[in-house]
Amino acid sequence: MAAQPERAAPPRILLLEDDPAIARTVAFALEREGFVVDQELLVGAARQRLARAAPALAILDVGLPDGNGLALCRELRASPQPALARLPVLMLTARSEEIDRVLGLELGADDYMAKPFSPRELVARVRALLRRAGLPPADTEPPPRFALDEAGQRVCFAGQPLPLTRLEHGLLRALLAAPGRILSREALLAAVWGPHSEAEDRTVDTHVKTLRAKLRELAPGLEPIATHRGQGYEWVLPTRR
Ligand code: CA
Repeated sequence: MAAQPERAAPPRILLLEDDPAIARTVAFALEREGFVVDQELLVGAARQRLARAAPALAILDVGLPDGNGLALCRELRASPQPALARLPVLMLTARSEEIDRVLGLELGADDYMAKPFSPRELVARVRALLRRAGLPPADTEPPPRFALDEAGQRVCFAGQPLPLTRLEHGLLRALLAAPGRILSREALLAAVWGPHSEAEDRTVDTHVKTLRAKLRELAPGLEPIATHRGQGYEWVLPTRR
């Protein structure tokens, strides 16, 4: 693991989740990574806590004893306080119909995870959202960037070309060309392997895995490729051509 820079105040995360086992798992995973987690079981209590101070990020369950995390997310987006209106929100969803609603743009959630999810993946998503929001503020160095060198057909990180295979290179190019968008395995297969390829979805996963390993070597801790379970992959870092 790469050493993390020292931070005066670790980012606080509001966790609104009424399932004790899930809440414990999420809190443990985040606290192990240096976050401070404030857990609430009720929408009302979360609303009060948000009114006292805006956290760095909120993780909201959908079904709660006294209400609905989706409604709270919508409330936040409509808040007159910029810190709440722009608060990064990650929804935890249990059912596919909830996912459809979370994905509806009117809610304004920044990301979601469907239960059951891996705590590691959740921490990676939280980190990506905080980076996107420009947090943590204690980081003074500008984020290193991946850039596509169109002329040389190379992908560079902090000015260094990456040693990639042809397929890894193709995958990275496709992801870099659509930052912030989820690319399905089918779309990646068509873009990289070609429309008539007989390669399967799992081939994409395999190459994303080796690509991630190489990116990790050059840029430990960055995790620029997010997995969206059942949907595909997304480039979550800033890019520069
Ligand atoms: Ca629940």
